Amino acid sequence: MDYGPAPESATEVLGWLATRGQFGHYIDGGFTVPADLFTTANPATGEALAEVSQGSTADITAAVAAARRALPKWAKLPGHERAKWLYALARQLQKRARFLAVLETLDNGKPIRESRDVDIPLAIRHFYHHAGWAELVETEFPGEAPHGVCGQIIPWNFPLLMLAWKVAPALAAGNTVVLKPAEQTPLSALAFAEICAEIGLPKGVVNIVTGDGRTGADLVAAPVDKLAFTGSTEVGRAIRRASAGSGKALTLELGGKSPFIVFEDADLDAAIEGVVNAIWFNQGQVCCAGSRLLVAEAIAAPFTRKLTARLQKLRTGDPLDKCTDLGAIVSPAQLARIRDLVSAGEAAGGELVQAEAQLPAAGNFCAPGLLLGTEPANPCWSAEIFGPIATMTSFRTPAEAVELANNTRYGLAATIWSENITLALDIAARVRAGVVWINGTNLFDAGAGFGGMRESGFGREGGREGMAAYLRAPTAKPRPEGAPG
Ligand code: NAD
Repeated sequence: MDYGPAPESATEVLGWLATRGQFGHYIDGGFTVPADLFTTANPATGEALAEVSQGSTADITAAVAAARRALPKWAKLPGHERAKWLYALARQLQKRARFLAVLETLDNGKPIRESRDVDIPLAIRHFYHHAGWAELVETEFPGEAPHGVCGQIIPWNFPLLMLAWKVAPALAAGNTVVLKPAEQTPLSALAFAEICAEIGLPKGVVNIVTGDGRTGADLVAAPVDKLAFTGSTEVGRAIRRASAGSGKALTLELGGKSPFIVFEDADLDAAIEGVVNAIWFNQGQVCCAGSRLLVAEAIAAPFTRKLTARLQKLRTGDPLDKCTDLGAIVSPAQLARIRDLVSAGEAAGGELVQAEAQLPAAGNFCAPGLLLGTEPANPCWSAEIFGPIATMTSFRTPAEAVELANNTRYGLAATIWSENITLALDIAARVRAGVVWINGTNLFDAGAGFGGMRESGFGREGGREGMAAYLRAPTAKPRPEGAPG
């Protein structure tokens, strides 16, 4: 599929933002009058992009009521009718792919190459894929019914893609939704709301309420039937506590500190490019980032030499430039958090090697880096940095590699690099992670379930498991909290 070239300028998107200026919420098929505004800014320049409404308790109540009214008709539509709406959404997203890529890059700071080639195409694919599921749901899940009204809360690192992961399966299964995007990156969700309005999606089926954590907490407390959250482990834990005993179904996609294991026999050049993808893609602001490099001692010296040389070649700068490898960090607060953690990691004995990049004067930029010689006691070993800095240590035996890999409270993803497939499969079975990649990393498909274990959450998004999470047996009580789906 050709999604068109990267745009030369952001004129069209800035024009769209200028005509809108201020955004209300999308509730019951229309936009509310903007109120209690906050600014969303371009992380690469610090300039304001638009003003967006801070959702109140009353806004959440209105959105949930609209979703509740829309539910009976939407849930009863034959699957092939719901499929038509999902195909329509997919087609409209595809038509606007270039526009959405620029909008996402402006609001989030990620390189245009990534929003153009990864975020937007994967989001589109998610809607196409789930249009297929809408047609199949009655035969593949006989007797199952949608949960009802779903409250969905997403983070800022892949704004439209996380929306797609939430909204597409929910609608395919016959649920209606109230989605709250992250306060740092609300714009692509609002563009999506405009698409819903434009195609005439039945009112109330999709509602978007913008705002910060307070709006999220209101949505958690609202009378919804299912909550789906992607974000930090800390907030996930708070949501689990707040919804305990409420009977609401719950899925949590949380943080990670994923190991990236390189064995002695690995194809080193391929593994180095794997690391580039694992930790410097999206400035390392990726839940499944391969942020703990575990390298066999026998190759640690040449591997480090090659990797530090590669690091110096990465281009950090203007996210709208097609040649940029790393764009801006999403917010000044996130940049400060990364710097504080890395300083703590150095103070605890880690040796920081950072690209000697000339960073733009304005904006939230951070040069890519490696923290060498980190031990499990180092704070950067255990804490999710959520920035372009990997920790690195070496191991002697496969057993030690597994022990180090599992020495974490998380369990989202793991990557194994080896030419010995027997060894790689054996290690994959012993590493505790929801997703394990071998000789590849950060690979996603709408047809494959993605999700974590331990403090990385529970439930799956994508594929059959992802659909199951939005369905339940009609006579069954709501699934117990913590159970899949
Ligand atoms: P965050 O938890 O601070 O915020 C995520 C969302 O929750 C935002 O929309 C925010 O407004 C909302 N929120 C904040 N406090 C809330 C509360 N008390 N109740 C309800 N909602 C609340 O996370 P973040 O900083 O935006 O995102 C980064 C985190 O997300 C990282 O830890 C990352 O690993 C994780 N993440 C996980 C996945 C995954 O699939 N597992 C994917 C992307 C990001």
